[in-house]
Amino acid sequence: MPPAVDSHAGPASRVAAGSEALFDRARAVTPGGVNSPVRAFSAVGGTPRFVRSGSGAWLTDVDGNEYVDLVCSWGPMLLGHAHPEVQEAVLAAVARGTSFGTPTEPEVELVEEIVARAPVEKVRLVSSGTEATMSAIRLARGFTGRDVVVKFAGCYHGHVDALLASAGSGLATFAVPGTPGVPESSTALTLVLPYNDRTAVEAVFAEHGERIACLITEAAPGNMGVVPPEPGFNAFLAETCRRHGALFVSDEVMTGFRASRQGQWGLDGALEGWAPDLMTFGKVMGGGFPAAAFGGRADVMAHLAPEGPVYQAGTLSGNPVATTAGLATLRLATEDVYAHLLRAGDTIKAATSDALSVAGVEHAVQSTGTMFSVFFAGGPVRDFTDASRTDTGAYAAFFHAMLDAGVYLPPSAYEAWFLSSAHDDRAVSAVLDALPGAARAAAAAQA
Ligand SMILES: *Cc1c(COP(=O)(O)O)cnc(C)c1O
Repeated sequence: MPPAVDSHAGPASRVAAGSEALFDRARAVTPGGVNSPVRAFSAVGGTPRFVRSGSGAWLTDVDGNEYVDLVCSWGPMLLGHAHPEVQEAVLAAVARGTSFGTPTEPEVELVEEIVARAPVEKVRLVSSGTEATMSAIRLARGFTGRDVVVKFAGCYHGHVDALLASAGSGLATFAVPGTPGVPESSTALTLVLPYNDRTAVEAVFAEHGERIACLITEAAPGNMGVVPPEPGFNAFLAETCRRHGALFVSDEVMTGFRASRQGQWGLDGALEGWAPDLMTFGKVMGGGFPAAAFGGRADVMAHLAPEGPVYQAGTLSGNPVATTAGLATLRLATEDVYAHLLRAGDTIKAATSDALSVAGVEHAVQSTGTMFSVFFAGGPVRDFTDASRTDTGAYAAFFHAMLDAGVYLPPSAYEAWFLSSAHDDRAVSAVLDALPGAARAAAAAQA
C-alpha cells in the first residue's frame, strides 16, 4: 500500500489498511488489541492508528499518514517527539548500560530537579503513576496508623485497587468496586466524594475524621476532561486534612511540570502558601520513559524502607535510562516552554470555541495553566456529574473529522488535549484549518 503522505490530498486519501492489519493481529494475541484500554478507540469507534514514528508535533502512522499530535502520549511529551537533546542524552545513557540494580547518578540529579520545583523534601522514584499513588497511600496509612482513604469521583489515580471505586449509596458511605476483580474489601475503606464540593468534604471528615489516613485528589482533575479546582479548594483540602490529622496527597502525575513549571501547585499552593503532605508525579518527569515518583514531608517519607518500616521497592525504580530522559526533559522545560504552551493553547482554544459556536455546537472550554480540554456540554463542568453530560456522540464525529484532516485528538471525550514546545505555527495552523469542518461534523451528529 503506497503511503498517503500528501497532506493536501484530503480525507479520502487517508488509508488505514496497515493499522487495520496490525489491529487484527494485535486482537488475536492481546485483549482488545491494546496495552491500555483508551488506545482502542472504543469510545469513538473505528480503528486505532498504529504509530510508526513521531517527530516534534507530528506522528506518522504505519500507513504513512501524518497527524498533528494533540495527545503527546497522554501528557509526557512536553518537548515533542524525538527531541534531539533528549535523544542524545538517552543514547549516551543506553551506551553506558541500561540497568544495574544499584544507585546511579541520574537518579540523584532527577530527584534534585523535582525537589527544586515542587514542595517536596524527599522523593522516591518508581516506574508508573499507578505505583506512585499506590505507594503514597500505603505510606499515608503506615504513617498515620489509620486506614480510610478519601477520593473524588472522576479523579483517576491509576489502576490501584482501593482507588478504582465508585461512590456508595450515600455521601458518607464507603465505596463499591468500580470494576470486577477488585474485592469489596479493597474499596470498603475508600470514601468517594463529588469534586469541588466543600460540604461533602466537611461531612465525611466530621463523621470519619479520626479514621482517615489521607485524602487524595488530582491537583487539578484532567482525567474527566480538565476541571479546575474552584479558587481555594485545594487550600481548603490541605487545611481540612491538617485539622483532622490526615495527610493531603496531591496527585500531580498529569499536572506536574505540565500545568506550569511547578505543576498545579505553582498555580495555587505556591501563591497561597500551603503545601501537600505527599505528592505524586509521573508522565512529564519520565520524558517518555517509565519513571514516576512520590515525595513530600521528610518526616513522612522517613517512614519508608529502608529508613522506616513501610515497605516499598522496585527492580527498575530509578532506572538510569528513564531518569536520564526525565532529567533532560525537565532541564529543557524552561519558562519559555510553558509560555509557548500557553500561547499555542490559547490560539487552539479560541479557534475551537469559534468553530463550534459557528456550527451551533454547545461546548465549554476549560483550562488550568497550560492544560485544557473541550467539553461538548451545555455549561461549565465542575464535577463528574457535569462531565457525564458530555455529548460523546458529537465528540466522536468531531474526533473522526479531525483525524481525517490530519489531527490526532484524544480518542475519548473525557481527556485533556496536550501540546508540546514543538507545536509551532505550522502544527497549530494545521489544527485551525481542520476545526471548521470537524465542528460541522459534530453539529451534523447532533441533528
Ligand atoms: C496517568 C495518571 C496516573 C497513572 O499513571 P500511570 O503511569 O498510567 O500508571 C495517576 N494519576 C493521574 C492524575 C494520572 O493522570
